[in-house]
Amino acid sequence: MSRIELLTVGESFRDLVFVGLPHLPRRGEELKSGRLVETIGGGAAITAVAAARLGLRVAMISALTNDAQRALRRERVLVTNLRRAHEPAALTVALSTTRDRSFVTYNGVNVHLQRRLPAVIARRRAAHVHFAFAPEGCGVWTRLVRRLRARGTTTSWDFGWDPALARRRGFAELAGEVDVVFMNQMEAALYARARRAAPNAVIKLGARGSRWTATALSIRMPAPRVRAVDTTGAGDAFNGGFLFGLLRGRSPRECLRIGNYVGARSTLAPGGIAGLPTRS
Ligand code: ADP
Repeated sequence: MSRIELLTVGESFRDLVFVGLPHLPRRGEELKSGRLVETIGGGAAITAVAAARLGLRVAMISALTNDAQRALRRERVLVTNLRRAHEPAALTVALSTTRDRSFVTYNGVNVHLQRRLPAVIARRRAAHVHFAFAPEGCGVWTRLVRRLRARGTTTSWDFGWDPALARRRGFAELAGEVDVVFMNQMEAALYARARRAAPNAVIKLGARGSRWTATALSIRMPAPRVRAVDTTGAGDAFNGGFLFGLLRGRSPRECLRIGNYVGARSTLAPGGIAGLPTRS
């Protein structure tokens, strides 16, 4: 088999999204809705599918339902599923109005995931590893990223929003070892120290596009104009497009442009995956 270009690693969720609600339910109120969308959530899956649809050879390590695993295989993502048969998959219920969103998540198997990952990552060869979770401890990951680099594997990380992570010991050091860190605008403020430590920081600016900053580089690229219906997963979709550009040797401006395009497209349908473009 040809070499994996991109390996994504992180939590997955079975996402149940009530879309188009007139308002969020008030205390004790039951809303009835005819529109329920089920999709696969979590950065590892969305970034993997975004990149696979563009033609990268992609693998993913996560813990997910058998249905999600089959759906990802149909997308040509090679899945290593760390969920054991008796363990419940993680589940998120989202309530979505045109202006507001609320979530409840059941973490299920994900409480065991981080412990199981390092051994499996060490066995999988890939040109690039993308991490999509907030690490519970930083030292173990700093060492892993260094080992990956020593064998010629580049890395990227999207930490997501986690105020406790900003204060965690060794976090800036970890960010300084990863080749590219992805943050949205709020995370860039929360993780300011880590952002400055990172050799390359790619900041996602919502409808305004994205920016890439490095020691000798600072470029900004506007996003295409779209009528967004749901921005869930747009950041992870962006990452998939950006990494496609990066791994295929495109210029920094092109990487941002492709990321913006894929991120913008993902906002056109509920969830992170349905709106993702294919190569054509
Ligand atoms: P996150 O989903 O991580 O919070 P953003 O909201 O910044 O990240 O979205 C990620 C990327 O998706 C943006 O950088 C942009 O390229 C694209 N995007 C998101 N929202 C829109 C929008 N309303 N119009 C056009 N592009 C968008």
